[in-house]
Amino acid sequence: MPEAPTTDTERATPATDAAPADGAAVRRLRNYVGGAWVEPATTETLATRSPASGAVLAEVPLSNAEDVAVATAAAREAFPAWRATPPQRRAHTLFALRALVAEHQEELAKLVTADMGKTFDDAFAEVGRGVESIEAACAVPHLLKGENLEGVARGVDVEMVRQPLGVIGAITPFNFPVMIPLWFIPYALGCGNTVVLKPSEQDPLPSVRLFELIDEAGIFPAGVLNLVLGAHDAVNGLLHSPEVDGISFVGSAKTARYVAGTAAAEGKRVQALGGAKNAMVAMPDADPKLLANGVIGSAFGAAGQRCLAGSLLVLVGSEEEQDASLKTVVDAAAGLTVGDGADPATDVCPLVSVASRERVEGEIETALSGGAELVLDGRHGGGKGGAQLGPTIIDGAALDSRAVKEELFGPVLTVVRTPDLDGALEIVNSSRYGNSSILFTSSGGTAREFRYGVQAGMIGVNIGVAAPIAWFPFAGWKDSIDGDLHANGHDAFEFYTRKKVVTSRWG
Ligand code: NAD
Repeated sequence: MPEAPTTDTERATPATDAAPADGAAVRRLRNYVGGAWVEPATTETLATRSPASGAVLAEVPLSNAEDVAVATAAAREAFPAWRATPPQRRAHTLFALRALVAEHQEELAKLVTADMGKTFDDAFAEVGRGVESIEAACAVPHLLKGENLEGVARGVDVEMVRQPLGVIGAITPFNFPVMIPLWFIPYALGCGNTVVLKPSEQDPLPSVRLFELIDEAGIFPAGVLNLVLGAHDAVNGLLHSPEVDGISFVGSAKTARYVAGTAAAEGKRVQALGGAKNAMVAMPDADPKLLANGVIGSAFGAAGQRCLAGSLLVLVGSEEEQDASLKTVVDAAAGLTVGDGADPATDVCPLVSVASRERVEGEIETALSGGAELVLDGRHGGGKGGAQLGPTIIDGAALDSRAVKEELFGPVLTVVRTPDLDGALEIVNSSRYGNSSILFTSSGGTAREFRYGVQAGMIGVNIGVAAPIAWFPFAGWKDSIDGDLHANGHDAFEFYTRKKVVTSRWG
């Protein structure tokens, strides 16, 4: 079995040490199992805090294997009837889910801002992306259709049908607490599976609200969709559960490798989307406005806490051309406002926790002690709530340093230089990751060469965050994914079904 990695969560504050600022009782969250809100067996909890103020928002139960077993049993019990529900009727439930999430887009976005920290506009767009995934999954009756071939021998026909896997465990990260659960839930349910969602323990409030809304609307039969709150024990409960047939995971590369290895060793189908170090290549002929807006939006939006965040800027051209591109980016970055995501003036939100801000500042120190220079320094002691870090740009880091090679997951942009596109492709493709890669140019020929040669799953040309719409597959290559099938699009229908081929002789 792969070794379990450690994460920021382990440094998060236990709820028992925390008190809400106004002295009010802290809400203790519960699991949603078999169509009802249930008190978990675990007594362990963790505080989820506002990244903007540090205030405790709720106590999150750290569900254990027993809590997971109750949820997986409910999902298993609900499976036969749900599987037997006609695909068109399952699609109708997705129509209802789509309407519900769209109706509550603003409310859910406000909760994302409160619990995860990103700006309201960003959170609103995130929920919109979730709505889009539900829309794409509504095509389920069409996409579940099989194949057949008549007359392969005298009187013999062959047909292939798709059937659901059974129970799906969905394990999701903190950075898109509404969108990523909605990458999995609609497709898995639409294909006839039942689901247990384990959202991030760092910001579970949007998932809890989503489930409250679904429960109140009575969209799904009891047990079809379940929620288990918690961290590592809950994940391990799902990975080792004999009731779970498939695991959909999104998170850091280290956890993805652990989840994929453990699930595979347990004989489960698994897709584990991991971390990233996305390069943005600035050609000397790039449009300066597109370059500046694209790079700062990608590197510093959501405080760099996106799997599509561009965190490596590769400057191409002569020294003067490279310096001119860098100046364009630095001038734009220096004008960004750092603050509370709920403030409409904010461009760069706080990091998800103080522990995360401290970790990222530690990475900046490591880069500086390795000989890199600061072109823009965003450190200012964490600001209100202690989790803020402004846009930071590092130049001159060694090509094999962590600042160039690893995901720092904060508003930190590392700059490297090379004379031409070949050199840029060499730098980009030397990464162990391959989630996304971006090119800024005004040459179609250069864009074509880049698109052909670059090793990544999601490519942007003059676009800083190249997030595919939900009808296309979403994932990267190399260490950015463990497993074969991406999230969304046709890949989702492939992942959540297995094929059965029937050969018959009649006549
Ligand atoms: P994370 O790996 O810390 O946590 C993800 C999930 O795994 C959470 O539900 C968490 O409870 C669980 N987990 C964490 N450590 C575990 C352990 N040791 N054992 C068992 N379970 C564990 O990731 P995060 O910090 O929540 O999210 C940020 C990461 O996710 C970044 O690396 C980002 O690039 C990545 N991400 C990738 C994509 C993608 O599409 N590839 C999308 C979004 C985020």
